[in-house]
Amino acid sequence: MAKILDGRAISKKIISDVALEIKNERAKITLAVVLVGEDAASKIYVRKKEEACREAGIISIRRELPSNTSEDALLKLISELNFDRKVDGILVQLPLPPHINERHICSAIAPEKDVDCANPENVGKFYLGEFSLAPCTPKGIIELLESYKINLAGKSVSIIGRSNTVGKPLAMMMLSRDATVTIAHSKTKNLEKHTANADVVVSATGKIGLIKGEMIKRGAIVVDVGINRVGKKVYGDVDFESASKKAGWISPVPGGVGPMTVAALIQNTYYLWKRYHGTQV
Ligand code: NAD
Repeated sequence: MAKILDGRAISKKIISDVALEIKNERAKITLAVVLVGEDAASKIYVRKKEEACREAGIISIRRELPSNTSEDALLKLISELNFDRKVDGILVQLPLPPHINERHICSAIAPEKDVDCANPENVGKFYLGEFSLAPCTPKGIIELLESYKINLAGKSVSIIGRSNTVGKPLAMMMLSRDATVTIAHSKTKNLEKHTANADVVVSATGKIGLIKGEMIKRGAIVVDVGINRVGKKVYGDVDFESASKKAGWISPVPGGVGPMTVAALIQNTYYLWKRYHGTQV
């Protein structure tokens, strides 16, 4: 039976460590969270992020806009937050309504307040190997593995999903830790061929039960990023029942990557504050 990569426990520890540092520094840090529209899942994520801010001693302010908000109106709000000296970090909860171009919005966030590493200037630095600021979900996954002393060097990793927020940046971070990385996606033929021999399988597709026990090798490390809602219940991409019998380590859903993403947001917010407004790092 696989050992559990307990994101909830590790995230708690990370947040309380940051809280202590913030307290010791007597830092006054404010994160602005921008939520556009009525997406129920986004509202839950925003609430969790606000809770984590409270635990860390970070002030969070929520800016909620209706789903028919124009791109211009949202850009105006971002600009106000960029210039607001009381605001240290800006998080725009994705996805945005389809009439708004996410890339325009991410480009408008000031790089020094960009807590999810979404502005192209930060993204460029990240891809060149400056990982001090990394997108929250891949950062959280790396922290989770490192908390359990899982060394990626020399391992073969199969990442399923090639999004700009998860699959691609995670591949870069794993590559920099000397893993050999394959990225699979919806057009990949014979997915099992890419998962069966991998030491580490990361699934980030949003396809419930895509990864089954028979597709992974015995002892593999399985990281489930997927969040799939069925009624009030949440499932991952991995069929936990069969995969946990074969894996060496597995991250559950809920309680795995989700809380780690939130912890990484707290770390990034504190990091940017330190970098631009507090002690130099
Ligand atoms: P996305 O929709 O942008 O990308 C999905 C990716 O999965 C695409 O690259 C697509 O090619 C691939 N894919 C889809 N079907 C596939 C299949 N049958 N076989 C192989 N590849 C397939 O998604 P995203 O934003 O990267 O999110 C992916 C999942 O992770 C979603 O369930 C999302 O809710 C979840 N997510 C969780 C967290 C967290 O904190 N836990 C954070 C971000 C995203």
